[in-house]
Amino acid sequence: MTETSSQKLTKTLTLYNTLTRHKDVFQPIDPDRVTMYVCGPTVYNHAHIGNARPAVIFDMLARVLRHLYPNVVYARNITDIEDKIIEMAAQEGVEISVITERYADIYRADMGALGVNLPDIEPKATETIPEMIAMMERLIEADHAYEAEGHVLFNVPSFPDYGQLSRRPMDEMVAGARVEVAPYKKDPADFVLWKPSSDEQPGWDSPWGRGRPGWHIECSAMIEKHLGDTIDIHGGGIDLQFPHHENELAQSRCSHEGAPFANYWLHNGFLNMNSEKMSKSLGNVLLVHDLIEQAPGEAIRLALLNGHYRQPLDWNDDVLPQAKAQLDRLYGALRQLEDVETADGDHVPDAFLDALLDDLNTPKALAELFQLAKLANQASDPGEKAKLKAALLQSGFLIGLLQQDANQWFEGADGSSDLDAEAIEAQIEARNAARAAKDFAEADRIRDALAEAGVLIEDGPEGTKWKLAG
Ligand code: AMP
Ligand code: ZN
Repeated sequence: MTETSSQKLTKTLTLYNTLTRHKDVFQPIDPDRVTMYVCGPTVYNHAHIGNARPAVIFDMLARVLRHLYPNVVYARNITDIEDKIIEMAAQEGVEISVITERYADIYRADMGALGVNLPDIEPKATETIPEMIAMMERLIEADHAYEAEGHVLFNVPSFPDYGQLSRRPMDEMVAGARVEVAPYKKDPADFVLWKPSSDEQPGWDSPWGRGRPGWHIECSAMIEKHLGDTIDIHGGGIDLQFPHHENELAQSRCSHEGAPFANYWLHNGFLNMNSEKMSKSLGNVLLVHDLIEQAPGEAIRLALLNGHYRQPLDWNDDVLPQAKAQLDRLYGALRQLEDVETADGDHVPDAFLDALLDDLNTPKALAELFQLAKLANQASDPGEKAKLKAALLQSGFLIGLLQQDANQWFEGADGSSDLDAEAIEAQIEARNAARAAKDFAEADRIRDALAEAGVLIEDGPEGTKWKLAG
């Protein structure tokens, strides 16, 4: 372990763990490789503000983990095969990849506008089919799954721990699974791992005929491939707890001889619109893509962080003006320190960090941030000012705020790109990898996505350089 990490590890991170139903002290399997997986978007439409909540929360958790540990591997997948994607591709008369690449690009750009960095790994379901097939073969071999009429089904009664995560009674789970009572099911609770595809539908060859995976097996296989049999943290919205996460857990444990799947399960609460569920039928769905035209991405991010992540968050007309006013206060303090040199070293105040380390208590951490701004406004000693400036910037960085120039904030131009330097470098690396693999279509797509986000890249003898457009 490096010296910096061992110093910081004197701090304790506690996280509310859905698996145990209490706040647990976080102890990674390997402090030199902390692993986190979050279920990512199904890419066939625009993300709404509720979908942005887990993206922002787990981006913040990744930042906090990186502050504590030298090496964090954060994977957030792209679900790029699903019946709604197939339907939409058929309507437009295009390949599913046209739909999924379009909406994956929009998702990255929209979340980038909220200060969400790209994950370290962004696996795609369609690139993990062999691993899914291998996992299903192992499940069948161990009598946890069976083939029936071109389908592969997981046999729920074969896993006595089923329900351990969501803690629901079996009859409720059967009803909750919303299963059509298919005649080939051995048990009504059994769920689909693989299903047959018609000639018109996308499909892959498998030992059970041409078909495609169910949603749950995708995440299990992507986790196994990229992070390992047992990971530290698994996250997602509260609605995914059942059946999605319960099923992921069953498949993964049963295909790994019962080994634990994820040691800490984190679930964010729901975002509601004016105290009502956000849904298309109520006509109250707010798309991130539209919101970022109306308000600075940073204000949207702060509005999402103003509540504790496990509580429901009520979105109404007041939340964005309030978040903007809060940022005015914080950037106001930074603007006054414009000519002050930022102090060297780690200046994240204990009270701020401790609040975050207490199950990501952002309301408390933000209160500490405002206290810092107040102290900065009152300070006269140059050394004190330098430290307060460092404290504001470093604390802000931990939660993904306050990274733009204060004057720019007040001019209303929050930079000409929505991606930060780390995210841009990650994209450039992905493009270089694509070029090395002679996947020039992918390399061009990344270059175009960067251009769309306001980043121009130039290849030269010393590698690829980038600059912000305009
Ligand atoms: P989906 O694309 O529907 O699978 O959702 C992507 C992510 O957004 C999942 O982690 C969901 O749990 C989460 N999510 C969906 N709707 C909301 C909402 N209204 N509030 C908070 N999280 C949500
Ligand atoms: Zn998942």
